[in-house]
Amino acid sequence: MSHKTVKGKEVAAPIITRVKEKVEALTDMGWKPHLASIEIGSNPAASLYIRNQRRICAEVGIEFDNRQYPQDITQPEMCAAIGALNVDPRVTGVILQRPVPPHLNLEQLQMAIHPSKDVEGMHPSNIGKVVYGDYILGPCTSLASVEILRSTGLTLRGLEVVVIGHSEIVGKPIALYLLAELSTVTICHHGTHNLAAHTRRADALFVAVGKPGLITGDMVKPGAAVIDIGINQIEVEAEQGNKKKKTVGDVDFESVHEVAGWITPVPGGVGPVTLAMLVRNTVAAVERTKVEYEAAMLA
Ligand code: NAD
Repeated sequence: MSHKTVKGKEVAAPIITRVKEKVEALTDMGWKPHLASIEIGSNPAASLYIRNQRRICAEVGIEFDNRQYPQDITQPEMCAAIGALNVDPRVTGVILQRPVPPHLNLEQLQMAIHPSKDVEGMHPSNIGKVVYGDYILGPCTSLASVEILRSTGLTLRGLEVVVIGHSEIVGKPIALYLLAELSTVTICHHGTHNLAAHTRRADALFVAVGKPGLITGDMVKPGAAVIDIGINQIEVEAEQGNKKKKTVGDVDFESVHEVAGWITPVPGGVGPVTLAMLVRNTVAAVERTKVEYEAAMLA
């Protein structure tokens, strides 16, 4: 990989080191972070996320336990189970693995997680705080994407930023973080006319759509930072005429690599930094609860 390919592990390393120090300090004070994972039924994508989350939690000293719930659990039963985790003082963070079975209302389940334990930063209360510049429990992927841009050393003030994708947990919060840094932000989506006219202006281009090959080299300003958030599974030719699955982003890596100043690979770019943000949020949730608890005890 060339020097312009941003390696997620390198961006994540100092964050992980800092989290580890904080976990040690909190554990010494009796506030060991404990992340409870909710897995409903079984799904290969969720199993992979759980494996990665378990690994990074072990690395930084966070207790991680995956709780499995039956595929046919009802919405009220699942809400009640989340409610039990909310009031369990040993559990400091809760993460809901996706996808959930189709008969369940994902949004409602996500909102059932108490904001103080919402380490993925998906509760409207935590997303709402982002609007006011409080990123303590912001959505992990958007935090990670902005951290990658910071790692380039580009001056964020006045930077021409284009974000493609306007979801609540990725595109919109990225735009809000960068507005707070006084970047000039444009958000594009499936209603945008002439996408390339916007992308060609960008000093920093974030792509979070879910369409492989959406961004090609001719759509990118020379020297721009291109942060590819998309995750797509495609089929490619393998030996003896067989096909195999490959994970790619939304950016055509080869052609964009030729013109960009920085580019994140998929896999190995945003993903490892998102995991680092998850453990950072897990610690931040404990720190926030500790401050509130101490303030209440002294009142
Ligand atoms: P989403 O599926 O909620 O929304 C997709 C967005 O793409 C929408 O804003 C839509 O308007 C826009 N869009 C669709 N077609 C378009 C087009 N032709 N031109 C311009 N915009 C278009 O998005 P999401 O949940 O933010 O996920 C986006 C991608 O990011 C997916 O591939 C997802 O797997 C990936 N993702 C990655 C991580 C990570 O940690 N790396 C985390 C979350 C999501």
